[in-house]
Amino acid sequence: MIGTSLPVEGIDPYMPSAGEIYMSEDQHKHFRHILVEWKKQLMQEADRTVDHMKSDAANYADPADRATQEEEFSLELRTRDRERKLIKKIDESLVTIDTEDYGYCESCGIEIGIRRLEARPTATLCIDCKTLQEIKEKQIYK
Ligand SMILES: [Zn+2]
Repeated sequence: MIGTSLPVEGIDPYMPSAGEIYMSEDQHKHFRHILVEWKKQLMQEADRTVDHMKSDAANYADPADRATQEEEFSLELRTRDRERKLIKKIDESLVTIDTEDYGYCESCGIEIGIRRLEARPTATLCIDCKTLQEIKEKQIYK
């Protein structure tokens, strides 16, 4: 698939059939598939990071080398932290598929939309509420 913005490679975007209801069983299946595959990939990446850090944890005599290594490690730890948070969001999204709340805005209740969910399968807000939230956050942290 060319030009797809899916976070997971190898899963084609969902094509609803004419008159298909929003968040039909097939759509649930599709997004569950994406979320499960995505989580698998993230967990594999996390394993690689740990391996890399173990094999790299040498004692450098040169303080400059040591500093570089520490920087690399802290970057990797931040990445891992992001991955952990993302995995948690994926798990939460999987729960909302089970409870059939998936795909609806947490704030106003409207449909988030298949296209938006393809690009952000863990989205819990519609684009309007998300934009509003970002504006509010900017005001708080100014
Ligand atoms: Zn909304």
